Amino acid sequence: MVVYEDVVKKYGGFTALNGVCAKVNAGEVVCLIGPSGSGKSTLLRCTNALEPIDGGNVVFDGSPLPTEERNVRLVRRRMGMVFQAFELFPHMTALQNISCGPMTVLGTPKRDATELAHSLLKKVGLSDKAMSYPSMLSGGQQQRIAIARALAMKPEVMLFDEPTSALDPETVGEVLSVMADLARDGMTMIVVTHEMSFARRVSDWIMVFEKGRIVEEGKPDQIFEQPKEDRTKEFLRHVGVNV
Ligand code: ADP
Repeated sequence: MVVYEDVVKKYGGFTALNGVCAKVNAGEVVCLIGPSGSGKSTLLRCTNALEPIDGGNVVFDGSPLPTEERNVRLVRRRMGMVFQAFELFPHMTALQNISCGPMTVLGTPKRDATELAHSLLKKVGLSDKAMSYPSMLSGGQQQRIAIARALAMKPEVMLFDEPTSALDPETVGEVLSVMADLARDGMTMIVVTHEMSFARRVSDWIMVFEKGRIVEEGKPDQIFEQPKEDRTKEFLRHVGVNV
């Protein structure tokens, strides 16, 4: 579904992605792990053209990402993105936050968008919060609403950029559990995360980043139990995984 062909991304003289080659198949959950600053979020932002690339190609569903703004918007609609900061609209209820995208962008009638929003609230376990404003919700609840909002656009792939790193520890689990449910439903997901137990348990494939490159990739059991690269071992030890 997504193929990275020798992707290069520079910020001025600094090379943030230095020739990334990888692919993500439909229905797969891929976790990007590695030290801070290694390029994981940059790759995610290049995936939906939030950042233009300086070399190579990101191929989505068989076609390289367009550069023309109008076409970029069309492609971006097909990918849901969930950020570290949830950025819900503060003046809208949870329900309105979820239904407004389909209504304004896709032209879905209000009644259908509302029905969809209710079903997504149920999916993320927040049926009782439909009329709550973001300020009345915990961080974990807001992030679950943000996930529902992204799902309302019926994306073909979901991109998660450290979705739990701004949350209080006690609400991390509820967000990870919604993400695990999505994975079980067969959603294609690319996830930047520091949650190693989630990466190990839920992902089909792990990519280990360092200095703008993938230093190792493989199935979770292989990466966590028998990493081949010293740099992978070093990173895992650093985050408290015994290898
Ligand atoms: P990670 O997600 O692995 O922590 P990032 O992809 O966020 O890493 O960042 C990779 C590198 O690119 C870092 O050194 C970061 O400082 C740099 N970088 C990211 N975004 C920008 C930007 N907008 N301008 C300049 N440098 C950036």
